[in-house]
Amino acid sequence: MVRGAQVVGRILGGVVTGKRLVGIGTAWATAFCKAVVVDRSVPLWLSSPLESLVLDDDGRVVGVRVRRDGAEVRIDARRGVMLAGGGFEANTAWRKEYHGIEGAPSGNPGNLGHPIAVAQDTGAALELMDDAWWGASLAAPPGGGPAFIVGERSMPYSLMVDSRGKRFANESESYVDLGHRMLENDGGTGPYWLITDARFTRRYFRTFAMDPRAMKAMRAAGIVLESRTLGDLARAIGVEPAALLETVERFNGYARSGVDGEFGRGNSAYDRYYGDPTVHPNPNLGPLLKGTFTAYRVVLGDLGTKGGVVTDADGRALREDGSVIEGLYASGNTSASVMGRTYPGPGSTIAPAAVFGLRAARDMARQVR
Ligand SMILES: Cc1cc2nc3c(=O)[nH]c(=O)nc-3n(C[C@H](O)[C@H](O)[C@H](O)COP(=O)(O)OP(=O)(O)OC[C@H]3O[C@@H](n4cnc5c(N)ncnc54)[C@H](O)[C@@H]3O)c2cc1C
Repeated sequence: MVRGAQVVGRILGGVVTGKRLVGIGTAWATAFCKAVVVDRSVPLWLSSPLESLVLDDDGRVVGVRVRRDGAEVRIDARRGVMLAGGGFEANTAWRKEYHGIEGAPSGNPGNLGHPIAVAQDTGAALELMDDAWWGASLAAPPGGGPAFIVGERSMPYSLMVDSRGKRFANESESYVDLGHRMLENDGGTGPYWLITDARFTRRYFRTFAMDPRAMKAMRAAGIVLESRTLGDLARAIGVEPAALLETVERFNGYARSGVDGEFGRGNSAYDRYYGDPTVHPNPNLGPLLKGTFTAYRVVLGDLGTKGGVVTDADGRALREDGSVIEGLYASGNTSASVMGRTYPGPGSTIAPAAVFGLRAARDMARQVR
């Protein structure tokens, strides 16, 4: 309560004094911009995409060519070039080639993977190109984007089924693991459905329901469907009613015993973190009994891609044989994730981007040219 009051007080203080306060990711980027652009007067060029690298006769990276105001501009780099242009989540051709699906990314629509391609052309090895920071997302309504869901699919009185009306995974597991299960189940083509009962709707916070206009658009697009009975809901989503009813009946048995006999939902600390501690015996399981029932259309979404340039502990780009490409560094989603195919916990992308970005900068600072 005290912390909540402090936050509200600070927000109101900002409104009164005319300060534009920002939080979470925006605050991090703002602090970074202040340190670099304001305090040290480093030029920041927007809308200046990387085109190619400049190499010297020894194959060392000594600069870049970027496109600025329609013209190609060369920038020389005495100590090195850091590629930090994100992954390739918005490149549908690459997505089809490496992932087998076009993807439903929630990340930057400008991330087409060109920095990765440029590094590869210079001889850099790539890894994990077939993987991503997968997760379940509500399908995008016309003109909108997919809504990544984390806590919602973990709450009691809800389950997820595939297009046959069957559960296929522990709905509460980490988003990367759940994405892997979706890929194993049907190549990630879906559709999947998050099915909830009236208590879920009444009790739990749903990030995607905060904006009534978005909910209206999703209802109109058939992404959110409601029905008083599970049989009618099954028909509405194109699933055999008997199959959905059997899935729900079995799930309700698990909710009563507190043990998910098929997928172990609620067994791990991660699952329970996103559960409801007031629900017993398992904070992630609650039976679906009370209408109105709701079905949310779910697709295989992601927060970005995991594949990219292989780097060493100083963020230096490596060739297939492990040798270093002098002068070339990569960080963030342009580099192959240090976390491999796993999701160890929150911050698994931003933290390594910051750590290896810093280590690379220190390594560059040590270079004498
Ligand atoms: C909704 C959402 C929630 C998330 N939550 C978390 C979280 O809680 N914790 C966490 O650790 N991670 C989280 N992530 C993931 C995290 O935001 C990304 O993994 C991270 O931003 C990647 O950083 P990056 O610098 O590699 O790429 P980005 O942040 O995507 O930045 C890449 C930049 O490069 C630019 N660019 C692209 N191509 C070029 C080019 N050719 N030339 C020049 N510039 C180019 C892009 O325009 C972009 O500005 C979340 C992601 C999303 C979408």
